Amino acid sequence: MKRILITGGAGFLGSHLCDRFIKEGYHVIAMDNLITGDIRNIEHLFKLPNFEFYHHDVSKFIHVPGELDYILHFASPASPIDYLKIPIQTLKVGSLGIHNCLGLARVKNARVLIASTSEVYGDPTVHPQNEDYWGNVNPVGPRGVYDEAKRFQEAMTMAYHTYHNVETRIVRIFNTYGPRMRLNDGRVLPAFIGQALRGEDLTVFGDGSQTRSFCYVDDLIEGIYRLLMSDYPYPVNVGNPSEITIGQFAEEIIKLTGTDQKVVYKELPKDDPKQRQPDITKAKEILGWEPQVSRAEGLKITYEYFRNLPEEELYKAAYHREFTKK
Ligand code: NAD
Ligand code: UDP
Repeated sequence: MKRILITGGAGFLGSHLCDRFIKEGYHVIAMDNLITGDIRNIEHLFKLPNFEFYHHDVSKFIHVPGELDYILHFASPASPIDYLKIPIQTLKVGSLGIHNCLGLARVKNARVLIASTSEVYGDPTVHPQNEDYWGNVNPVGPRGVYDEAKRFQEAMTMAYHTYHNVETRIVRIFNTYGPRMRLNDGRVLPAFIGQALRGEDLTVFGDGSQTRSFCYVDDLIEGIYRLLMSDYPYPVNVGNPSEITIGQFAEEIIKLTGTDQKVVYKELPKDDPKQRQPDITKAKEILGWEPQVSRAEGLKITYEYFRNLPEEELYKAAYHREFTKK
């Protein structure tokens, strides 16, 4: 039985990866310090003999007994609201955390795949973004703690590949959504759906003309699986190129939820990227991958998930509302 370590395994993406590798017949070890994750995302796996959970901070030395075939490094705060609240931990998990994972990979002779992000392109001046674009990042702006951690993480990963012959894979993930996102993580989709469910107006930042391209989680997981199994060591964009303005997205959520609330406009956060769309030519060519789930389908499934959460979950979102007022 192949053995895989998934850091950030109790998070949104990490928990879907745990499910996928369990389904593929792996022994899965999820490692997480639960700083932004939720144990309930993986609770259903605890009864399985081929699943283990280590409650551990990846930025500290990692010890995993036995062999490892693969390591997926997904531990990191991921939403702007999270990494603004915990900037130092964000920098540490992208630097010390990946160093520990790569060191472990070297000892175990394991292949490593790291979760990078479209944020390495910053506020892009090239559109759509392809992997050859180096980006436009403000290192000392509020997003710098995340963007630079991820850029460092890519550099460290390439260095282990080049100098220590560690087998490495780098996925640049574009905005992904689906069940198990945290309702209060501040990302735009849970923010809008949470507001609709609580009967509040939807808060569009800026004039709503900035764009994003949203990928449904199942599509992303398939892309990551194929990349891990490929022999391609350089970064690959995985995302859905279907681009939409945030203003239009708010209208879609209003229609989806049937809310009679309206859109209200708030200040645009500093360095908020104006446009984002993945160029997925590489993923198509190298992995034979492209997204299968339309935004209409994916949003319907995600809305059902949020709608069926216990009501108190809706009001845990309070701190986010406080934050956006500032
Ligand atoms: P998430 O917050 O749901 O998951 C991150 C997980 O990492 C959480 O369970 C958290 O507790 C854990 N974690 C954080 N620091 C840790 C540490 N020091 N030690 C151990 N565990 C730690 O976020 P997500 O959306 O699932 O993101 C997962 C990964 O994917 C991140 O690396 C993120 O940067 C990347 N990513 C996500 C998206 C997206 O749209 N969801 C886009 C680009 C990149
Ligand atoms: N956004 C918004 N209202 C919200 C939350 C976010 O208008 O309540 C905007 C945000 O300014 C950004 C986009 O939605 O332009 C996506 O934000 P998110 O935090 O989801 O991810 P990002 O892609 O910026 O990291």
